[in-house]
Amino acid sequence: MAPPPMADDPGNVKVVVRCRAFVRREREKGTQCLIRMDPATNRTILLAPNDGDLDSNARKAYEDKEFLFDKSFWSHDEADPHYAHQEDVYRSFGEEFLDHNFNGYHTCIFAYGQTGSGKSYTMMGTPDNPGLIPRTCEELFDRIREEPTPNTSYHVQVSYFEVYNEHVRDLLVVRTNPPMYLKIRESPKDGVYVQGLTEVEVKSYKDVERLMKLGDMSRTTAATKMNDTSSRSHAVFTIRLKQITHSLLSDETIERTARMRLVDLAGSERAKSTEATGQRLKEGGQINKSLTTLGRVIAALADPRRHNPKGRRPREVVPYRDSVLTWLLRDSLGGNSKTAMVACIAPCDYDETLSTLRYADQAK
Ligand code: ADP
Repeated sequence: MAPPPMADDPGNVKVVVRCRAFVRREREKGTQCLIRMDPATNRTILLAPNDGDLDSNARKAYEDKEFLFDKSFWSHDEADPHYAHQEDVYRSFGEEFLDHNFNGYHTCIFAYGQTGSGKSYTMMGTPDNPGLIPRTCEELFDRIREEPTPNTSYHVQVSYFEVYNEHVRDLLVVRTNPPMYLKIRESPKDGVYVQGLTEVEVKSYKDVERLMKLGDMSRTTAATKMNDTSSRSHAVFTIRLKQITHSLLSDETIERTARMRLVDLAGSERAKSTEATGQRLKEGGQINKSLTTLGRVIAALADPRRHNPKGRRPREVVPYRDSVLTWLLRDSLGGNSKTAMVACIAPCDYDETLSTLRYADQAK
């Protein structure tokens, strides 16, 4: 049985921002921190760099900018009483999103930002400081074990794919050369889906962890001048929760399926900033296409009345079909689903940080 439908609700889209600590290289160089956050008001300020080497014309291009998001996470200085730990980021929407899943609705969490801004740290984290994916999985299995609904059986399946240059590749199969790309299909019953994608039944977080490691090893990465292992693909980790409840009073069976999409997006840096050429440049264009479309889709969902003040926009106006990523995630965005975007920013790099904050701002 499908859960009752809900209209696109702007409250179903959350946009938060997170500023990471300096990495060693930045600390050793005495890099200036360009971010201020006020956790009380959730304001984020990007400061103009105070760089003595800039001539007056170059300095004019920079000015302080202020942004307001649903939440601002200050993960820059651990000594600060307002420091946002992995647990704080999870608590801000992880639990709420899981409740939504157990009620039979889909959720989707994205990490957006330039390479090195903390996307993987936020989504995956480290063994000592696990991120959103491990915390979500652990709590999912805890709830199934500790608070099961009577007469209900639970089935959890995971899949992991990447979108690279508008092609879809299964991350849970051995990598082939040339790579094998999967086709996207649509059916009235299943909606939009990836044909032949591996889906594995899992019983515990340990199972999930093993599959994630397998997928991460297979993920497409390519060296760029900016970062040796700069990720050029969008990685979509999906957990499917199926609940089957048998009624004691009748023969009726109620089945509810929810999908959790956890997406580590490709680095948002513009192709030119990594001096990319040829193949890299083409990738840059394709990556930007998916990211630009995703931004437009989320912006349209966040404010359904933006372009049509008299009432709801027709659904077709949300440009899902303009990129593979948004087309595939269509069921998990809008409608009954809850969506969160974590905009990850480095505490330095004015231009890239401004571009990330602007992207997140239009998605509010
Ligand atoms: P991305 O996935 O965006 O390329 P990473 O998650 O790999 O970036 O982060 C880059 C570096 O910064 C890594 O060494 C990571 O451990 C560190 N880092 C990122 N976010 C944080 C944070 N909130 N606290 C501490 N270290 C962080």
